[in-house]
Amino acid sequence: MSLTIDRDRLLSEIDTLASFSDAEAPAVTRIVFTPTDLKARQWMKARCEEAGLAVRQDAVGNTFARWNGSDPTAPVVGTGSHIDAIPNAGKFDGVVGVLGGLESIRALQQNGFRPKHSIELLIFTSEEPTRFGIGCLGSRLLSGTLSADAARKLTDNDGVTLDEVRRRAGFAGELEQVRLPSGYYEAFIELHIEQGPLLEHGRTPLGIVTKIAAPASLRVLIEGSGGHAGGVLMRDRKDALCAAAELILAVESAARTSGAIDTVATVGICDVFPGAVNSIPSRVRLSVDVRDTELQRRDKVVRTIETTCESISAKRKVSIHNELLNADAPADCAPAIIEALSQSCRKHELDFLPMVSRAYHDSLFVSRIAPVAMLFIPCRNGYSHRPDEYAAPEDIVRGTLVLAETLAVLST
Ligand SMILES: [Zn+2]
Repeated sequence: MSLTIDRDRLLSEIDTLASFSDAEAPAVTRIVFTPTDLKARQWMKARCEEAGLAVRQDAVGNTFARWNGSDPTAPVVGTGSHIDAIPNAGKFDGVVGVLGGLESIRALQQNGFRPKHSIELLIFTSEEPTRFGIGCLGSRLLSGTLSADAARKLTDNDGVTLDEVRRRAGFAGELEQVRLPSGYYEAFIELHIEQGPLLEHGRTPLGIVTKIAAPASLRVLIEGSGGHAGGVLMRDRKDALCAAAELILAVESAARTSGAIDTVATVGICDVFPGAVNSIPSRVRLSVDVRDTELQRRDKVVRTIETTCESISAKRKVSIHNELLNADAPADCAPAIIEALSQSCRKHELDFLPMVSRAYHDSLFVSRIAPVAMLFIPCRNGYSHRPDEYAAPEDIVRGTLVLAETLAVLST
């Protein structure tokens, strides 16, 4: 098969989608279910219908655009990603997988290819946690990782429930119906920018993801006792920030000494109360994020952090309360899809790097119900989630070509 990717159409569609934004270009802000997001969804839907795809939207707004295969009973070959964008983001994160996926389908159509398995483009709702505080909302629901009941309890920053917001946005039906039946997918592939520097550094055009790392997040509240920075003697202090400082370094050390390069841990938030120059910190709130490609190793780091909380609490006579907010399991990509992607790369004489996805994606959750893999393209300096995020046209085209080739192989 000799496939042609319509580079100009694909690039101009990426630009057009970026114009649906609540930030001034080149920044893109597109928060789920805002008027801007809804306009972008309408535009995407029109592009899919223009390509002859049958579009269905579920109760949470996940959008499925299907190219019917010759065997309608055969499981679906899926591809896709997200189009929501955090405040002040770039125009490629997620979008490359959605518009590249659509272009792959059009390239196959143009070539006269006829799939046996239906090929379906999936646009996930709210991969970014901006509005409801939880990432990959759509894929969690369709994979059953998040229950409809738990989803109904989610509220946005204004206290409005997800149920109300999505109904107002025009997505009716019950959240229970979002979950896909088991055996729905034959395979699922997500094309995405790397969001890291490895491909660019190695001048490798493509990355084939073999494992997707997953985070565990903890919220830690440390309470000591405050007082006047001059009045309270050192021997009498229960300084919550000093305890936090010890804990932060312990988090770093727990990840560094795990024995694996894939273990990473971060304290990203440190709120200090009362936050005055002459007042001893009485209360500190920390966020801890621990990631790994192996569940046991990651959870061991989490346990180390928890026992360190206990020992610091005893030593410094402060109270430390920690709460595990989420702990998703990492995923292994499906060997058969990895092989199909590798074959497609070889066929087009494109170098590729087997790699780990250190960020998590909707594919992590789809992996609970389907064989998945991801295809990465380079992005400049590894930058993502910022306005200067950039993927080169030739890389976008290469990724789309390999995706199209692989979708053909898997849907035959
Ligand atoms: Zn993304």
